[in-house]
Amino acid sequence: MKITVFGTGYVGLVTGTCLADVGHDVICVDVDEAKVEGLKNGVIPIYEPGLESMVLRNYKEGRLNFTTDAELGVNHGVLQFIAVGTPPDEDGSADLQYVLAVAKTIGKYMNDYKVIIDKSTVPVGTADKVKSAVAEILKNRNSALNFDICSNPEFLKEGAALEDFTKPSRIVVGTDSQQVEELMRECYGPYNRNHEKLMFMDVRAAELTKYAANAMLATKISFMNELSQLAERLNVDIEQVRQGIGSDPRIGYQFIYPGCGYGGSCFPKDVQALAMTADQVGYDAQLLKAVEAVNLRQKETLFAKVNKALDGNLKGKKIALWGLSFKPNTDDMRAAPSRVLMESLWDAGASVVAYDPEAMNETHRIYGKRDDLTLVGTREIAVEGADALVICTEWKSFRAVDFEWLKGKLTNPVIIDGRNLYNPEDVNKAGFKYYAVARGDSL
Ligand code: NAD
Repeated sequence: MKITVFGTGYVGLVTGTCLADVGHDVICVDVDEAKVEGLKNGVIPIYEPGLESMVLRNYKEGRLNFTTDAELGVNHGVLQFIAVGTPPDEDGSADLQYVLAVAKTIGKYMNDYKVIIDKSTVPVGTADKVKSAVAEILKNRNSALNFDICSNPEFLKEGAALEDFTKPSRIVVGTDSQQVEELMRECYGPYNRNHEKLMFMDVRAAELTKYAANAMLATKISFMNELSQLAERLNVDIEQVRQGIGSDPRIGYQFIYPGCGYGGSCFPKDVQALAMTADQVGYDAQLLKAVEAVNLRQKETLFAKVNKALDGNLKGKKIALWGLSFKPNTDDMRAAPSRVLMESLWDAGASVVAYDPEAMNETHRIYGKRDDLTLVGTREIAVEGADALVICTEWKSFRAVDFEWLKGKLTNPVIIDGRNLYNPEDVNKAGFKYYAVARGDSL
């Protein structure tokens, strides 16, 4: 099947590559010339486990191609996936300018029937806007060409994107057209062999389903972070509470880890955008607004703890950071808690020595060269002579630590753990002051 994907970011590149991997003939279009040039030369712009070899193999075998030539892309596929960014606008609502720009491009160049698929996360009603944008261009061209719009939100997680795309829990497709249903079955057939994964529904229901999923997951995290604040003040170990509630199958263990706040390109913007959608239809979505507010407050806790642990005297202090990406197994720094911490530390006159297994280039790209940020190649170098160690991301390689060794490296035996990686008894026994998230250490 001939397929075109607009956008070669986390979603577009994974979608295009996985669809090529099962034999479809895919062209990925991006406006970023450097990215496209890089991809043609085997340079993968993002870190995603397993992606590099899959891109290289499918590109070499000719099923996956990259271009900046939108006309070529539009003329290629009967399916036209839109997988471009939908960043927050100034008021928090989703900015649809990139999605609508692609819609207009498709309208401009199409010469036969197309199915235009919104894979980007877009608010309810966007399919109608895409339809109008395409229809208007066709009208100006005096063209009576047929097209359909369909919603196919993506549920992959960065860090496990290939696994999620190739073994999805469900594939949501919003359409009212039998023809689109058949074409989408053909597209996803290879990933839908053993159990029926395709869920067909109304376009607007599909659009809302994506926001509902992200808002639910973000709510679980904020709920647990709120409880951790309470537990800290009540001198309760939240870990015992987590196990106590997770064992209830109605609640489950997933997404109930307290931490230093959720980040990434999805939860923060999608919770805000859904709250804005509610405002626009005259409903005050109090729970969604609270989820966001709790998260913003939680992101500030790391700095507050470092500040308190060092008696409010951060000027000239050197703070070691383990982990920069917003979660493990990705290089994505968008809305990462580490950024809130670093920026506050710099404002207070401290310097940062940081290590992350994958996000160093991205950190350098964001902050450039500055005297108060040193990026180092191992976790061991990061802690040498530091006044405190802060753990921002729960990378696997941070889980086992020789605390005796670590004590010899740090100037002060202080660990602030935003991810509850260690057993407080072990760390305290080694002579550290250990400030985790509601582990009975109240700071
Ligand atoms: P991204 O920022 O990584 O990539 C977007 C890409 O689109 C960029 O390469 C950009 O150059 C390109 N682009 C912009 N305008 C274009 C145009 N006119 N033509 C062609 N390409 C264009 O974004 P992402 O993280 O892949 O997210 C894309 C969408 O998918 C968003 O709506 C996001 O909310 C949603 N989503 C993301 C994830 C995730 O984990 N990142 C998961 C599910 C859904």
